[in-house]
Amino acid sequence: MLARMNVFVTGGAGYIGSVCVEELLNAGHEVTVFDNLSEGHRSAVDARAKFVQGCLSDAALVKQAVRAANAEAVLHFAANALVGESMTNPSKYFRNNVGSGLNLLDAAVECGVRKFVFSSTCATYGPPDRVPMTEDLPQRPINPYGESKLMFEKMLLWFEQLHKLEFIAFRYFNAAGATQNFGEHHRIETHLIPNVLKVPLGQSKQCEIYGTDYATPDGTCIRDYIHIVDLAQAHILGLAPGKRGFFNLGNGDGYSVRQVIETCEKISGKRIPAVEKPRRPGDPPKLVAAAAKAVNELGWKPKFPKLDDIVATAWAWHLAHPNGYPD
Ligand code: UDP
Repeated sequence: MLARMNVFVTGGAGYIGSVCVEELLNAGHEVTVFDNLSEGHRSAVDARAKFVQGCLSDAALVKQAVRAANAEAVLHFAANALVGESMTNPSKYFRNNVGSGLNLLDAAVECGVRKFVFSSTCATYGPPDRVPMTEDLPQRPINPYGESKLMFEKMLLWFEQLHKLEFIAFRYFNAAGATQNFGEHHRIETHLIPNVLKVPLGQSKQCEIYGTDYATPDGTCIRDYIHIVDLAQAHILGLAPGKRGFFNLGNGDGYSVRQVIETCEKISGKRIPAVEKPRRPGDPPKLVAAAAKAVNELGWKPKFPKLDDIVATAWAWHLAHPNGYPD
């Protein structure tokens, strides 16, 4: 059992961050959340955590907050994370994900943080030469979002080598699902599962499929969906000293957009009409993880590997919070 740590969490008011904060607190850690609430929600921050509202672009404030938290570990979730938006506004992605993130790295070094845990993405790979994708595949992102995360991965390697800041970077596949308390609420929702579930919730008449002419069995994109509680557990395992490097987090199973819609129909018990739209720029056809490294090196054991269970937890949260968070 890992000793209790002071953990500084950026983006802890966001979807993935909020659940990681809850799991960290359940595991007995002390948590300070730092979030500018541009995407996150104040009410998504677990009441047991301390909260600092601030922006990573403010280097002095970041340093002050990391110091005040007496942080031993930093979990860095705060980022812009939409492939489509990054294709129209690349500057936002490089400025926030790379430039502002650097302020956090500087603060971590200056305040003697022992471990830096970074939210990376399978979008750093670009279209892979083979699936399932292992961590050693070449990284050739095809959108500025993936490129910005890859740039940060490279900075981590240099900071580890030159400043002895141990890091672990998780390349997430598609985070989905919810806990009882925290779930997915983006003010502008672009993600597949919450958008599809809007139909049985009575908030949309139909869902949209972006591209039906991909070289996949049913023509729609294939992704590897991972439950956010499983994602959070990997972060907690990654806090242990000596656990370092790059890890994929996925289940190793690929589901097409059409299969996700069918699963949402099954779980909600309602028919979900879908309209076929053109491809969304920047989307690789198929991304599926090989997650053996996290299993073998971190002792990671996903609790919700099945898409049915992932969608069922998302559906339960949306039913209980049909309008998401109040703020
Ligand atoms: N997608 C879709 N309709 C939607 C939202 C997403 O067809 O309303 C597709 C999207 O093009 C991609 C997959 O679903 O192929 C997963 O997209 P999402 O935005 O959830 O995650 P991403 O893989 O981009 O991180």
